[in-house]
Amino acid sequence: MSYEAEMLKKWDMPPRKEVERELLREFVKHGGVVAEFASGQEIVKDIADYFALTEEQRNVPLERIYKKENRVVKTPLWHRLLFRAADSLAKEKLLIRPSQTIKLTKKKEWMLTEKGFDRALKLSDISAIRKENLPTKSYEVQKIVKKLNESRRPEKYIPFDKKKKAAKVTREAVLRTRAFRLAVTEAYSYRCAVCGLKISSPDSLSWEVEAAHIVPHSHMGRDDIWNGIALCHLHHWAFDVGWFTLRDDYTVEVSSNINSLPADFGKIRDYELFRILANEKRRIFLPNRNEIYPHINSIIWHRQNVFVR
Ligand SMILES: [Zn+2]
Repeated sequence: MSYEAEMLKKWDMPPRKEVERELLREFVKHGGVVAEFASGQEIVKDIADYFALTEEQRNVPLERIYKKENRVVKTPLWHRLLFRAADSLAKEKLLIRPSQTIKLTKKKEWMLTEKGFDRALKLSDISAIRKENLPTKSYEVQKIVKKLNESRRPEKYIPFDKKKKAAKVTREAVLRTRAFRLAVTEAYSYRCAVCGLKISSPDSLSWEVEAAHIVPHSHMGRDDIWNGIALCHLHHWAFDVGWFTLRDDYTVEVSSNINSLPADFGKIRDYELFRILANEKRRIFLPNRNEIYPHINSIIWHRQNVFVR
Protein backbone atom coordinates (compact mmCIF):
# COMPACT_ATOMS: atom_id res chain seq x y z
CA MET A 1 0.00 0.00 0.00
CA SER A 2 1.32 3.45 -0.91
CA TYR A 3 2.05 6.01 1.79
CA GLU A 4 -0.89 8.11 0.57
CA ALA A 5 -3.30 5.16 0.62
CA GLU A 6 -2.05 4.25 4.09
CA MET A 7 -2.68 7.76 5.33
CA LEU A 8 -6.20 7.80 3.85
CA LYS A 9 -6.93 4.56 5.65
CA LYS A 10 -5.29 5.60 8.89
CA TRP A 11 -7.29 8.81 9.04
CA ASP A 12 -10.49 7.11 7.96
CA MET A 13 -11.06 9.50 5.06
CA PRO A 14 -14.19 9.11 2.89
CA PRO A 15 -13.91 6.89 -0.22
CA ARG A 16 -12.73 8.76 -3.32
CA LYS A 17 -15.80 7.76 -5.38
CA GLU A 18 -18.07 9.42 -2.83
CA VAL A 19 -15.91 12.53 -2.79
CA GLU A 20 -16.15 12.62 -6.59
CA ARG A 21 -19.95 12.59 -6.48
CA GLU A 22 -20.16 15.32 -3.87
CA LEU A 23 -17.57 17.40 -5.70
CA LEU A 24 -19.60 17.25 -8.92
CA ARG A 25 -22.72 18.34 -7.07
CA GLU A 26 -20.84 21.26 -5.53
CA PHE A 27 -19.73 22.40 -8.98
CA VAL A 28 -23.30 23.34 -9.85
CA LYS A 29 -23.55 25.47 -6.69
CA HIS A 30 -20.25 27.15 -7.57
CA GLY A 31 -21.22 28.15 -11.09
CA GLY A 32 -19.27 25.36 -12.81
CA VAL A 33 -15.78 26.60 -11.88
CA VAL A 34 -13.62 25.96 -8.86
CA ALA A 35 -10.09 27.22 -8.16
CA GLU A 36 -7.38 24.76 -7.21
CA PHE A 37 -8.11 23.39 -3.77
CA ALA A 38 -6.63 25.45 -0.94
CA SER A 39 -7.28 26.37 2.68
CA GLY A 40 -10.05 28.83 3.32
CA GLN A 41 -11.87 27.88 0.13
CA GLU A 42 -15.63 27.59 0.57
CA ILE A 43 -15.99 24.38 -1.45
CA VAL A 44 -13.19 22.67 0.52
CA LYS A 45 -15.03 23.46 3.73
CA ASP A 46 -18.50 22.61 2.36
CA ILE A 47 -17.51 19.13 1.22
CA ALA A 48 -15.65 18.51 4.48
CA ASP A 49 -18.84 19.52 6.31
CA TYR A 50 -20.86 17.14 4.14
CA PHE A 51 -18.65 14.23 5.22
CA ALA A 52 -18.59 15.57 8.80
CA LEU A 53 -14.80 15.52 8.90
CA THR A 54 -13.10 16.31 12.19
CA GLU A 55 -10.66 19.20 12.54
CA GLU A 56 -7.81 16.69 12.48
CA GLN A 57 -9.04 15.04 9.29
CA ARG A 58 -9.25 18.45 7.63
CA ASN A 59 -5.73 19.45 8.60
CA VAL A 60 -3.56 16.35 8.79
CA PRO A 61 -0.60 16.92 6.45
CA LEU A 62 0.61 14.62 3.75
CA GLU A 63 4.30 14.83 3.03
CA ARG A 64 5.20 14.66 -0.59
CA ILE A 65 8.70 14.65 -2.01
CA TYR A 66 9.35 16.87 -4.98
CA LYS A 67 11.98 14.75 -6.67
CA LYS A 68 13.05 17.47 -9.10
CA GLU A 69 13.81 19.96 -6.38
CA ASN A 70 14.56 17.33 -3.78
CA ARG A 71 12.41 18.88 -1.10
CA VAL A 72 9.47 17.81 0.98
CA VAL A 73 6.14 19.56 0.56
CA LYS A 74 3.32 19.27 3.06
CA THR A 75 -0.24 19.46 1.77
CA PRO A 76 -3.34 18.64 3.80
CA LEU A 77 -4.38 15.06 3.09
CA TRP A 78 -7.93 16.37 2.54
CA HIS A 79 -6.86 18.70 -0.28
CA ARG A 80 -4.92 15.85 -1.84
CA LEU A 81 -8.02 13.66 -1.76
CA LEU A 82 -10.07 16.41 -3.41
CA PHE A 83 -7.39 16.78 -6.05
CA ARG A 84 -7.43 13.02 -6.70
CA ALA A 85 -11.22 13.12 -7.04
CA ALA A 86 -11.09 16.04 -9.48
CA ASP A 87 -8.29 14.39 -11.42
CA SER A 88 -10.32 11.22 -11.74
CA LEU A 89 -13.35 13.22 -12.95
CA ALA A 90 -11.10 14.90 -15.51
CA LYS A 91 -10.01 11.49 -16.78
CA GLU A 92 -13.69 10.68 -17.33
CA LYS A 93 -14.01 14.00 -19.23
CA LEU A 94 -16.43 15.38 -16.67
CA LEU A 95 -14.06 18.20 -15.67
CA ILE A 96 -11.39 20.22 -17.47
CA ARG A 97 -8.05 20.58 -15.70
CA PRO A 98 -6.67 23.96 -14.54
CA SER A 99 -3.73 23.56 -16.94
CA GLN A 100 -6.22 23.65 -19.81
CA THR A 101 -8.76 26.14 -18.43
CA ILE A 102 -6.02 28.74 -17.89
CA LYS A 103 -5.73 29.08 -21.67
CA LEU A 104 -9.39 30.05 -21.81
CA THR A 105 -9.95 32.09 -18.63
CA LYS A 106 -6.38 33.04 -17.63
CA LYS A 107 -7.22 31.51 -14.24
CA LYS A 108 -6.15 28.18 -12.84
CA GLU A 109 -9.47 26.51 -12.19
CA TRP A 110 -11.31 23.26 -12.68
CA MET A 111 -14.32 23.62 -14.98
CA LEU A 112 -17.28 21.39 -15.81
CA THR A 113 -17.64 19.93 -19.28
CA GLU A 114 -21.11 19.57 -20.81
CA LYS A 115 -20.98 15.89 -19.90
CA GLY A 116 -19.97 16.75 -16.33
CA PHE A 117 -22.74 19.37 -16.13
CA ASP A 118 -25.37 16.78 -17.14
CA ARG A 119 -24.01 14.27 -14.62
CA ALA A 120 -23.94 16.90 -11.86
CA LEU A 121 -27.57 17.88 -12.53
CA LYS A 122 -28.62 14.26 -12.29
CA LEU A 123 -26.75 13.79 -9.01
CA SER A 124 -28.31 16.98 -7.64
CA ASP A 125 -31.84 16.03 -8.66
CA ILE A 126 -32.11 19.19 -10.73
CA SER A 127 -34.35 18.82 -13.76
CA ALA A 128 -32.53 18.96 -17.09
CA ILE A 129 -35.12 21.54 -18.18
CA ARG A 130 -33.56 24.05 -15.79
CA LYS A 131 -30.19 23.61 -17.45
CA GLU A 132 -30.55 26.28 -20.08
CA ASN A 133 -31.31 28.98 -17.52
CA LEU A 134 -28.67 28.10 -14.95
CA PRO A 135 -25.70 30.43 -14.78
CA THR A 136 -23.42 27.38 -14.50
CA LYS A 137 -20.41 27.51 -16.79
CA SER A 138 -19.19 24.68 -18.95
CA TYR A 139 -15.99 24.53 -20.96
CA GLU A 140 -17.77 24.19 -24.29
CA VAL A 141 -20.09 27.14 -23.63
CA GLN A 142 -17.31 29.34 -22.19
CA LYS A 143 -15.36 28.93 -25.40
CA ILE A 144 -18.29 30.54 -27.25
CA VAL A 145 -18.71 33.21 -24.54
CA LYS A 146 -15.05 34.14 -24.97
CA LYS A 147 -15.56 34.54 -28.71
CA LEU A 148 -18.67 36.68 -28.14
CA ASN A 149 -16.82 38.92 -25.69
CA GLU A 150 -13.66 39.28 -27.68
CA SER A 151 -14.89 39.67 -31.25
CA ARG A 152 -14.19 43.09 -32.70
CA ARG A 153 -17.16 45.38 -32.74
CA PRO A 154 -18.22 45.71 -36.39
CA GLU A 155 -18.92 49.12 -37.91
CA LYS A 156 -21.38 47.77 -40.44
CA TYR A 157 -23.24 45.46 -38.15
CA ILE A 158 -26.22 43.50 -39.48
CA PRO A 159 -28.26 42.29 -36.51
CA PHE A 160 -29.88 39.45 -38.46
CA ASP A 161 -28.61 35.95 -38.91
CA LYS A 162 -30.12 34.70 -42.15
CA LYS A 163 -28.84 31.20 -41.47
CA LYS A 164 -30.83 30.96 -38.27
CA LYS A 165 -33.40 28.27 -38.82
CA ALA A 166 -35.88 28.33 -35.98
CA ALA A 167 -37.13 24.82 -36.74
CA LYS A 168 -33.81 23.04 -36.53
CA VAL A 169 -32.34 22.80 -33.06
CA THR A 170 -28.80 21.52 -33.30
CA ARG A 171 -26.47 20.88 -30.37
CA GLU A 172 -24.42 23.83 -31.54
CA ALA A 173 -27.48 26.10 -31.50
CA VAL A 174 -28.29 25.03 -27.93
CA LEU A 175 -24.75 25.79 -26.74
CA ARG A 176 -24.83 29.10 -28.54
CA THR A 177 -28.11 30.11 -26.91
CA ARG A 178 -26.62 29.38 -23.48
CA ALA A 179 -23.46 31.29 -24.37
CA PHE A 180 -25.58 34.28 -25.43
CA ARG A 181 -27.43 34.22 -22.10
CA LEU A 182 -24.29 33.90 -20.02
CA ALA A 183 -22.32 36.52 -21.96
CA VAL A 184 -25.13 39.09 -21.83
CA THR A 185 -26.21 38.62 -18.21
CA GLU A 186 -22.60 38.60 -17.02
CA ALA A 187 -21.77 41.74 -19.03
CA TYR A 188 -24.50 43.56 -17.08
CA SER A 189 -23.49 41.98 -13.74
CA TYR A 190 -26.88 40.22 -13.58
CA ARG A 191 -28.71 43.56 -13.31
CA CYS A 192 -31.62 44.85 -15.35
CA ALA A 193 -30.19 47.56 -17.66
CA VAL A 194 -33.28 49.71 -17.10
CA CYS A 195 -34.18 49.48 -13.40
CA GLY A 196 -31.05 47.85 -11.99
CA LEU A 197 -32.91 44.98 -10.32
CA LYS A 198 -30.49 42.23 -9.28
CA ILE A 199 -31.85 39.15 -7.52
CA SER A 200 -31.23 35.42 -7.62
CA SER A 201 -33.41 32.47 -6.62
CA PRO A 202 -33.22 31.54 -2.91
CA ASP A 203 -31.06 28.52 -3.80
CA SER A 204 -28.71 30.94 -5.66
CA LEU A 205 -28.95 28.74 -8.74
CA SER A 206 -30.63 31.14 -11.12
CA TRP A 207 -30.93 34.87 -11.75
CA GLU A 208 -34.11 36.83 -12.31
CA VAL A 209 -32.50 38.88 -15.08
CA GLU A 210 -32.88 37.68 -18.67
CA ALA A 211 -30.76 38.14 -21.78
CA ALA A 212 -33.13 39.88 -24.18
CA HIS A 213 -32.62 39.99 -27.94
CA ILE A 214 -32.98 43.52 -29.30
CA VAL A 215 -33.86 42.22 -32.77
CA PRO A 216 -35.94 39.26 -31.57
CA HIS A 217 -35.20 35.62 -32.21
CA SER A 218 -38.41 35.42 -34.30
CA HIS A 219 -36.91 37.99 -36.70
CA MET A 220 -33.68 36.01 -36.89
CA GLY A 221 -31.93 38.39 -34.49
CA ARG A 222 -28.33 37.44 -33.84
CA ASP A 223 -27.25 35.65 -30.68
CA ASP A 224 -24.36 37.98 -30.03
CA ILE A 225 -23.52 40.57 -27.44
CA TRP A 226 -24.32 43.55 -29.74
CA ASN A 227 -27.88 42.35 -30.19
CA GLY A 228 -28.39 41.60 -26.49
CA ILE A 229 -29.37 43.50 -23.37
CA ALA A 230 -29.99 42.27 -19.82
CA LEU A 231 -33.51 43.03 -18.61
CA CYS A 232 -35.71 41.95 -15.70
CA HIS A 233 -38.84 39.98 -16.66
CA LEU A 234 -41.04 43.07 -16.54
CA HIS A 235 -38.77 45.29 -18.62
CA HIS A 236 -38.10 42.41 -21.03
CA TRP A 237 -41.82 42.14 -21.67
CA ALA A 238 -42.27 45.93 -21.97
CA PHE A 239 -39.34 46.13 -24.42
CA ASP A 240 -40.66 43.28 -26.58
CA VAL A 241 -44.16 44.76 -26.87
CA GLY A 242 -42.82 48.22 -27.66
CA TRP A 243 -43.56 50.18 -24.49
CA PHE A 244 -40.08 51.61 -24.58
CA THR A 245 -36.97 51.69 -26.74
CA LEU A 246 -33.49 53.17 -26.57
CA ARG A 247 -32.19 56.35 -28.13
CA ASP A 248 -28.74 56.51 -29.73
CA ASP A 249 -27.31 57.86 -26.47
CA TYR A 250 -28.69 54.84 -24.52
CA THR A 251 -31.38 56.80 -22.73
CA VAL A 252 -34.90 55.36 -22.58
CA GLU A 253 -37.76 56.59 -24.76
CA VAL A 254 -41.25 55.64 -23.59
CA SER A 255 -44.26 55.31 -25.89
CA SER A 256 -46.53 58.38 -25.84
CA ASN A 257 -49.45 55.95 -25.46
CA ILE A 258 -48.58 56.03 -21.77
CA ASN A 259 -50.46 59.36 -21.54
CA SER A 260 -53.76 57.85 -22.67
CA LEU A 261 -53.72 54.98 -20.15
CA PRO A 262 -56.08 54.97 -17.16
CA ALA A 263 -54.43 56.39 -14.05
CA ASP A 264 -54.24 53.04 -12.28
CA PHE A 265 -52.26 51.37 -15.10
CA GLY A 266 -48.49 50.82 -14.95
CA LYS A 267 -48.15 51.17 -11.19
CA ILE A 268 -46.75 49.03 -8.41
CA ARG A 269 -48.67 50.42 -5.45
CA ASP A 270 -47.93 54.13 -5.81
CA TYR A 271 -44.82 53.68 -7.91
CA GLU A 272 -45.22 54.79 -11.52
CA LEU A 273 -43.23 52.27 -13.54
CA PHE A 274 -43.39 53.82 -16.98
CA ARG A 275 -44.36 57.45 -16.40
CA ILE A 276 -41.27 57.89 -14.22
CA LEU A 277 -39.13 56.22 -16.87
CA ALA A 278 -40.48 58.67 -19.46
CA ASN A 279 -39.17 61.63 -17.44
CA GLU A 280 -35.77 60.15 -16.68
CA LYS A 281 -32.92 61.43 -18.78
CA ARG A 282 -30.41 58.93 -17.39
CA ARG A 283 -28.55 56.37 -19.50
CA ILE A 284 -29.37 52.73 -18.91
CA PHE A 285 -26.88 50.59 -16.94
CA LEU A 286 -24.28 49.43 -19.47
CA PRO A 287 -21.41 46.93 -19.48
CA ASN A 288 -18.01 48.24 -18.39
CA ARG A 289 -16.51 48.03 -21.89
CA ASN A 290 -18.10 49.98 -24.71
CA GLU A 291 -17.11 47.35 -27.30
CA ILE A 292 -19.90 45.20 -25.91
CA TYR A 293 -22.61 47.89 -25.64
CA PRO A 294 -25.74 47.10 -27.69
CA HIS A 295 -25.08 48.01 -31.32
CA ILE A 296 -26.80 51.09 -32.67
CA ASN A 297 -28.03 49.10 -35.71
CA SER A 298 -29.97 46.72 -33.44
CA ILE A 299 -31.40 49.66 -31.52
CA ILE A 300 -32.46 51.51 -34.69
CA TRP A 301 -34.24 48.37 -35.89
CA HIS A 302 -36.08 48.07 -32.56
CA ARG A 303 -37.10 51.73 -32.65
CA GLN A 304 -38.48 51.40 -36.19
CA ASN A 305 -40.09 47.99 -35.95
CA VAL A 306 -41.11 47.26 -32.37
CA PHE A 307 -41.44 50.53 -30.54
CA VAL A 308 -44.91 52.10 -30.49
CA ARG A 309 -44.48 55.84 -30.77
ZN1 LIG B 1 -36.10 46.09 -14.84
